[in-house]
Amino acid sequence: MTTMTRRFSGDTLLIASHNQGKIREIADLLRDRVASFPSAADRGLTDPEETGDTFRANAELKALTATRATGLPALADDSGLAVSALDGAPGIYSARWAERDDGVRDFDYAMRRVNEALGETTDRSAHFVCALSLVWPDGHTETVEGRADGTLVWPPRGGRGFGYDPIFVPDGHAVTYGEMDPDEKHAISHRADAFTKLLARCFS
Ligand code: IMP
Repeated sequence: MTTMTRRFSGDTLLIASHNQGKIREIADLLRDRVASFPSAADRGLTDPEETGDTFRANAELKALTATRATGLPALADDSGLAVSALDGAPGIYSARWAERDDGVRDFDYAMRRVNEALGETTDRSAHFVCALSLVWPDGHTETVEGRADGTLVWPPRGGRGFGYDPIFVPDGHAVTYGEMDPDEKHAISHRADAFTKLLARCFS
């Protein structure tokens, strides 16, 4: 079976996210090509349970759920940190590793868990992954994956980013994502890599 790549030619694209930072970042990137960006948050949609076992499957699940609920084409992302010596953990569970027993999400706690799991391991290599999925109302799906390789450091450094940024030094740099100017991070990140691929495939 051959599947043709599909280009996006509509004027409305639903951003299947409740994260205002992500919504703004996606709208900024696509503003020249798409006129209107309602979001899952604006439409009062709830996120589905992320039951997939890959970033790709979870991004597709989020986009498909939003498309079915609204009849609009939808774009969703799923991302996380994969640590080589931990067989790719926390991976798709990156947000869940931050949940403390009292249910509060705490990334200082998550970073400590990663560091403790590594123990004395000398291999500190890790990569961030970002899957982006664009789904049309007829179910056609285009999914791309971006990646950023780097090394984990301890203790955490820098307060400019979010999540695991303070322990991740991208390859070719001496500072963590958390110490970097946000514009510089956005130019080299896993999310930037995924967007470059999506733009080339569906918006060029
Ligand atoms: P989700 O894609 O919104 O489910 O996010 C997954 C989790 O991955 C986030 O809560 C962060 O902990 C982590 N993550 C994803 N991208 C980044 C990043 O650029 N920096 C730091 N942490 C990230």
